[in-house]
Amino acid sequence: MKKFDPATELSKLEQFGEFGGVNPSITDSATYTFLGAETMVDTFHGEAEGCFLYSRHWNPTNKYLSDALAAMEGTEAGWVTASGMGAITSAILQLCNSGDHIISSVTTYGGTYAFLKNYLPKFNIDVTFVIPTDLESIRKAVRPNTKVIYTETISNPLLQISDIPKMSKIAKNVGAKLVVDNTFSPMIVSPYKLGADVVVYSMTKFINGKNDCVAGAICSDNDFINSLIDVNTGTAMLLGPVLDPLRSSSILKNLYTLHIRMKQHSKNALYLAEKFTKEGIKVIYPGLKTHKDYELLNSLMNNEFGYGGMIAIDLETKEKAYSFMEKMQDRNIGYLAVSLGYFKTLFSNSGSSTSSEIPEDIQREMGMSPGLVRFSVGLDNDIERTYELIKECY
Ligand code: PLP
Repeated sequence: MKKFDPATELSKLEQFGEFGGVNPSITDSATYTFLGAETMVDTFHGEAEGCFLYSRHWNPTNKYLSDALAAMEGTEAGWVTASGMGAITSAILQLCNSGDHIISSVTTYGGTYAFLKNYLPKFNIDVTFVIPTDLESIRKAVRPNTKVIYTETISNPLLQISDIPKMSKIAKNVGAKLVVDNTFSPMIVSPYKLGADVVVYSMTKFINGKNDCVAGAICSDNDFINSLIDVNTGTAMLLGPVLDPLRSSSILKNLYTLHIRMKQHSKNALYLAEKFTKEGIKVIYPGLKTHKDYELLNSLMNNEFGYGGMIAIDLETKEKAYSFMEKMQDRNIGYLAVSLGYFKTLFSNSGSSTSSEIPEDIQREMGMSPGLVRFSVGLDNDIERTYELIKECY
């Protein structure tokens, strides 16, 4: 069967500026005029096709980016947010009411974990954390009030792979929605095509790829996106995490080079993962045949974009990890910085940074070593040279 090709789907879109500009025009307006008062009323009720009301609801520039993301994901619609957390929290709060229950992977981005663990109890929403690869534990965690199953396609930072089709089946059987964070694997995996109901992104990472802003996105069917921006009940409309249209415009231009960047990130990451393995260093990379979920990822992924730009190596102790990262930064291999998806390599010690919200005993339980160094491998043209420099650091 021919696989979905997100890059080609994106390229089929025709988006022009209002004066024929090859890039869509930027609409930097908060509000919009109406020639007739009735049309304004219809727009309030979502019944005036092509009309814009107020930029917290919709902005034409945001719509261009949302449409492009929807094309890439194979969803009916999208909505762009001011950060990845804006996307994740809006989607979850739209799907859950007080008294509901969520099943979530324990290995998620630390901010997501903190939101689920520390923030949602305020609303009497209960969360059961599970190992995402343990489908039986997901089945066992289901309750009559389970509304959301939440996971990351490739988990942060342990790079476990979620079996999206099987999770989708579990969710459908109990009338819950499967929400998937695809931040680590845009284009590589298309979760909606595999059965996810809602796909969320931190566009701060690979999608934008420039580390010059934070941004997020939610992709789903029309009903869900419309529910998010309903003027009376929509979480996005009422909490207001909207993306600035000037940013939308720059992210849209970067989106069109995403397929080329993902291939290069993946190529470089695979090279480093194989070299680290040969050196006898413990490596986690889902593109290695020795990775537990290698076959699973192969069955889920689209063609051509590789296994992603993220790798993790285990240097056992925090001290060794710190010294290694400082030496790498001194040699200009990349930056000791959180975040990912940048053109330069970024590295951080997950346990003491992006996963520090997860208590240490739970980090150990989920298999996160104190010496884990997470790499977001950059777009280096000569990765062999980079590896020779890395070798001097451990
Ligand atoms: N999801 C993942 C997998 C992340 O790594 C991050 C941030 O690091 C987020 C979500 C949150 O995104 P943002 O920082 O854009 O709010």
